[in-house]
Amino acid sequence: MTYDTQPKASHFVAGAYLEDTGGAEIEVIYPASGEVIARLHSATPKVIEAAITSARAAQKEWAAMTGTARGRILRRAADLMRARNRELSQLETMDTGKPLQETLVADATSGADALEYFGGVAATLTGQHIPLGQDWAYTIREPLGLCVGIGAWNYPTQIACWKGAPALACGNAMIFKPSETTPLCALKVAEILHEAGLPAGLYNVVQGMGDVGAALVSDPRVDKVSLTGSVPTGRKVYAAAAEGIRHVTMELGGKSPLVVFEDADIEDAVSGAILGNFYSSGQVCSNGTRVFVQRSVLEPFLERLTARLADAVIGDPLDEATSFGPLVSQRQLDIVQGFIARGQATGARLVTGGQRLDLPGYYLQPTVFADVTDEMEIAREEIFGPVLSVLTFDDEEEVLRRANDTPYGLAAGVFTRDLARAHRMVAGFEAGTCYINTYNLAPVEMPFGGSKLSGVGRENSMAAIEHYSQLKSVYVSMGTVEAPF
Ligand code: NAD
Repeated sequence: MTYDTQPKASHFVAGAYLEDTGGAEIEVIYPASGEVIARLHSATPKVIEAAITSARAAQKEWAAMTGTARGRILRRAADLMRARNRELSQLETMDTGKPLQETLVADATSGADALEYFGGVAATLTGQHIPLGQDWAYTIREPLGLCVGIGAWNYPTQIACWKGAPALACGNAMIFKPSETTPLCALKVAEILHEAGLPAGLYNVVQGMGDVGAALVSDPRVDKVSLTGSVPTGRKVYAAAAEGIRHVTMELGGKSPLVVFEDADIEDAVSGAILGNFYSSGQVCSNGTRVFVQRSVLEPFLERLTARLADAVIGDPLDEATSFGPLVSQRQLDIVQGFIARGQATGARLVTGGQRLDLPGYYLQPTVFADVTDEMEIAREEIFGPVLSVLTFDDEEEVLRRANDTPYGLAAGVFTRDLARAHRMVAGFEAGTCYINTYNLAPVEMPFGGSKLSGVGRENSMAAIEHYSQLKSVYVSMGTVEAPF
């Protein structure tokens, strides 16, 4: 182990680290070695109560501050995150196993972008003036109150910021529960926010498994829940939130299509397929795991893809030369290996990869299947690992129908030089986030989220503001009141 990864305590509540060893132990494992790098405790009811009480106590005063003052704190936090990018990226790498080469540019930096963007937006949040003849109405944009964020394990820093930044900008308090697999990074986000001047209680981190998430989601004092996770968890969390008619944002799983037409720049399309399948060892919700390639370019596409994958540098994720790291856990490795074995058993052609690597840690080769058909399990279910399935198609209408033949709708991409066709495809895709001649970029300025089973609501951009605030309408009469009797 290279870095000190044991946090001062398991939770961050009311502006300070908090420990309660009464909760079940959570072992944090470095995915590249299998070593335990920290031991934390799941939140007890006492910790959950302290988080809820402190958040509710702090929220009203926070909401009463000017947007400019709130925003200044968020922007200061963004600067601190950028200044500490290297150490935060090292921690993210230890927490997730993702290569430092990636975490240096995609995690704390993306979190800082969210803090900076929503820090800037905070001062601009206003209502509307609505003329009604001699009368008029106005709207007031108000915070929701106490928001709960629940994270997945693939982007622990980013998720903590993508939820926290818009929530705080709008004047809410947040309690964030990271995934039990990657509990370390959100604590750093809380530390930085408070160092930047965030009043105590407004951003709390509590650790735990699903039961801690469930306790938060069903508490009547919670006003909103934002989950990043799988569809089965989404169903449970959405149902629990519905009980209290609480607001929700659901960022769930996907099985997204990436369509490569014969007129595409094949090298670019291969790059898109690599970004959309092997970044973060394939553990990205929006991955384009069903790669539809037009028949005439199938062989050149596979040839270039295989050649480019041979250049992946697999190994120690803390070495900046490494471009492909391990999966997050033994459990995830088992799940992905199961999909690969069943893919082979059902007749898909293994073009490259498929094997576990002879290294300590949870390493699996980048894997490509060809001759995949629509009904195969590997073409229907989210694998969440480095497994790309190539399907072949002949024409536009056919590929659009097949691309949409999934209950998910997170993302979709098309590679073609024919821009009219690109826009026709995008118009037809049943997906929340689409890409033309690129894949998987998620700048904070652009709404991100899914349709169909992939989710409800949007993160990032001004669209996120709608999901962390509500409007109060005020009718103002300028005359006398006319009543029927
Ligand atoms: P998961 O659904 O197992 O867990 C997500 C979080 O929910 C964890 O923090 C977990 O402790 C918590 N949880 C579990 N049961 C709960 C309950 N009953 N009530 C409240 N909280 C509960 O997901 P995961 O394995 O951590 O992450 C992988 C999944 O997340 C994949 O399906 C992936 O597609 C999805 N994901 C989606 C996005 C997106 O933005 N759409 C981003 C990343 C990951």
